[in-house]
Amino acid sequence: MTYSTGGTAKMTQKARPNWDKINVPAAMSDLIDQYLQTDIAKQRGLKSKSDVATEGVKMLLERDGMYIRRPRFQHLNMYEDHVKVIDNEMGRIASVYFRHEKIYCDICDANECIHADFALTIPKVVKILEEKGFPLPKPKPKPT
Ligand SMILES: [Zn+2]
Repeated sequence: MTYSTGGTAKMTQKARPNWDKINVPAAMSDLIDQYLQTDIAKQRGLKSKSDVATEGVKMLLERDGMYIRRPRFQHLNMYEDHVKVIDNEMGRIASVYFRHEKIYCDICDANECIHADFALTIPKVVKILEEKGFPLPKPKPKPT
């Protein structure tokens, strides 16, 4: 038996110590790739095949009473110029900043992301931003 050290694509893949591999038919895998290109996948924050597979399994197990979903986002705290949002899926806390008329999320390093979107659904946050005259983006339609 030969041992392969893997190509560069494998080397750059993030190590996920608490993850297991599950196989799906190649045709299904292709469909997931196509799905990842859609707006609905982006709106749902699904970025990889693993995201889609995990979400699909959750939906089935939830329906059949084997899994109880925690809310993905929780509002943790509010500060002078930013809001802390817990992302239970990523297991991280995002700081969403509202500075110089711009929104910025530190874990996504982006001006627009699911954490920023969540922060803008918190009534207390919106109220304060409105009072400060912060230019709020138009609300986006929610994925169903
Ligand atoms: Zn973010």
